[in-house]
Amino acid sequence: MQPVHALDPASAESLVADLGLPRFRADQLLAWVYRRRVADPRDMTDLPAAARDGLGTRLGGSAVHPARLEQSSDGTRKLALRLGDGELIESVLIPDRDRLTLCVSSQVGCAMGCTFCATARIGLKRHLRVEEIVGQVVLAQEAAARFEPEARALTNIVFMGMGEPLHNLDALLPAIDILTSPWGLGISSRRITVSTVGLVPEMRRLLESTKVSLAVSLGATTEEKRRELMPVTRKYSLAQLLEACRTLPLPRRKRITFEYTLLDGENDSDEDARRLVALLHGIRAKVNLIYWNPFPGADYVRVSQERTHGFQRVLLDHGIAASVRESRGPDIAAACGQLAGRAPKPTAPSPDCPV
Ligand code: SF4
Repeated sequence: MQPVHALDPASAESLVADLGLPRFRADQLLAWVYRRRVADPRDMTDLPAAARDGLGTRLGGSAVHPARLEQSSDGTRKLALRLGDGELIESVLIPDRDRLTLCVSSQVGCAMGCTFCATARIGLKRHLRVEEIVGQVVLAQEAAARFEPEARALTNIVFMGMGEPLHNLDALLPAIDILTSPWGLGISSRRITVSTVGLVPEMRRLLESTKVSLAVSLGATTEEKRRELMPVTRKYSLAQLLEACRTLPLPRRKRITFEYTLLDGENDSDEDARRLVALLHGIRAKVNLIYWNPFPGADYVRVSQERTHGFQRVLLDHGIAASVRESRGPDIAAACGQLAGRAPKPTAPSPDCPV
């Protein structure tokens, strides 16, 4: 069986050719799958019955199945999704004024071991496949159409859910191709952001192959502190990471977003802020300050609003664009660093899941 949400023009054409169908049926098939979000060939009503039957024997359905939908008091929705092998991942829909952002997972768990992140506690179970990444977006579009006021469409996609997306680049790149192509979901690359802890060669490959935006999670301003908080620093030092950022093939007028999760007494002093200013010298950068969100077993302390704005002030005073990202969905463990696939493990999609 061929996974339906990994179809591209080449595989669709070879599929219809194998079934003895004319080439234009491939375009129809792609339009059904991505534009009309219909995964079951039996429902592709303008295809002849024989074509529907033939495709039905070759195409597998969606690779992600809704297990649970939770809604935060701030309107954020967390979708727990079950994969074919029973593993759970999470995607988060975040409404904000005229935007509806989907935070997408790229792995089951994560190998990077950042000490301030709940996903790290799971370790890496496996990479997501192309159809599991694209399937999350298709399912979220469906959920948005049903539940958002006036059936809003997704406006932005951020790869900031479970996993390090650049650790799974071989699936990420074809998935981005499907998300952005006119024959696929047709989402503008400008509205897609990939966040990384700083896998240096993969950052370059991403920007050479796509036009998406890059976010780098920085986490600390000294090698020593970053090694402690983000073990990836042992492989790519802070100095190497920043040097790479200076020479990346960034499109004109694009900036790299540096995410900085503030941890009380760890990385939140004015001295840290001044060091950050110096580190970013010569890089087209903006900084996103993030409140740390607690999870069971973690022993960090969330930084106060006052300290966060004090840190921000130092950056602004030195000409660095810096914003504070408000936590969204913390009451349903949907905020940054809290995703850990905690939904129960039924064997079939939960009957009370409304998606
Ligand atoms: S912050 Fe991102 S890269 Fe680090 S452990 Fe969590 S999911 Fe992995």
